[in-house]
Amino acid sequence: MECRSQQIQLNPNNKQATLMSQHAGYARVAYNFGLSSFKQGLEADEWRTYVDIKREFNAVKYDKFDWCKELSQNASKNALHNLGDAVTRWKKGQNSFPVYKKRSDRISYQADNGTGTVEVYKKRINLPKIGWVRMREQLRYKGTISKVVVSKRNNRWFVSVLIDCDISNFKHQPPLFDDKQPLGVDVGINTLATCSNGDTYDNPRPLKRYERKLARANRSLSRKVYLSKNWHKAKAVLSGVHYRIGCIREDAHHQASIRIVRKASAIGIETLHISGLLKNRKLAKALSDSALSGFLTLLKYKADRRGIPITEADQFFASSKTCSRCGEKKKDLTLSDRTYHCSECGLDIDRDFNAAINLCPA
Ligand SMILES: [Zn+2]
Repeated sequence: MECRSQQIQLNPNNKQATLMSQHAGYARVAYNFGLSSFKQGLEADEWRTYVDIKREFNAVKYDKFDWCKELSQNASKNALHNLGDAVTRWKKGQNSFPVYKKRSDRISYQADNGTGTVEVYKKRINLPKIGWVRMREQLRYKGTISKVVVSKRNNRWFVSVLIDCDISNFKHQPPLFDDKQPLGVDVGINTLATCSNGDTYDNPRPLKRYERKLARANRSLSRKVYLSKNWHKAKAVLSGVHYRIGCIREDAHHQASIRIVRKASAIGIETLHISGLLKNRKLAKALSDSALSGFLTLLKYKADRRGIPITEADQFFASSKTCSRCGEKKKDLTLSDRTYHCSECGLDIDRDFNAAINLCPA
């Protein structure tokens, strides 16, 4: 058994969207109630468990929050359960002490924790007390639903579904390529990925493309009265631009990584030492725009899931400076040299392609 999760955008009607907001509000209220009770417990030198707090909350909820009768009690129950986890982790020193949730925080609630109250049928999902909500796409995996979280991001609703599934009967096996071979992958700013089989994947650099839009949105926000109605509008515009940028980047990373993984029998990559490169101010912006380490993480994860071995070259391995034909090392290669010319054997080759060949696992 293995876990898979999928996030799908929802197309709720107005009534459903309002209900989801209410559920998220209910989850927040329950969480904050629980946290304040837990803090009182700490002051009185007693450790209140999830069960204690749930009992306390259930005893008062219909008096204190009578509006919650119309809502699914899963929202509050799971919020308290998550609080219980958070304080346990805090006790073990794994994270900091939980803080109260604010209205302005990310809006979300957990609709189910594997109790079977959520049903999925084709492109629809049945959420407790909300009913059948349309989804943008179907669930990719077959299995038992073990967790369902509904959240709102940039005015869009999403559902994140965690499924316990048997991977042997996956519906969507990746198509197998006959020409699977060991691949070296060089990542960079100009080209996101250059592979040793000659494939290249472009880097969309969305931040650069949206630079002016972003600056305008930032300027507009700074001119509004803080927390006024227009300030909130400007803030929504700004977060919309950021959302768009994130989507473009994420999409490019997913497309490139899956294509590489499908063609590879083994993958060789370099170890990025970004923190050193970020000190170069000219490069810093372009580097953070391309989010290369995020891309490599994704590539590693996808290769791992398919059992493709991935080797990381030593941090000091000069993949760009070494000639891929004769092994000669060049000392004076600068970042602006786009072609590699070997003075020993006379090889003329694209710089990134040369590095990719060097990174290719034997
Ligand atoms: Zn050479």
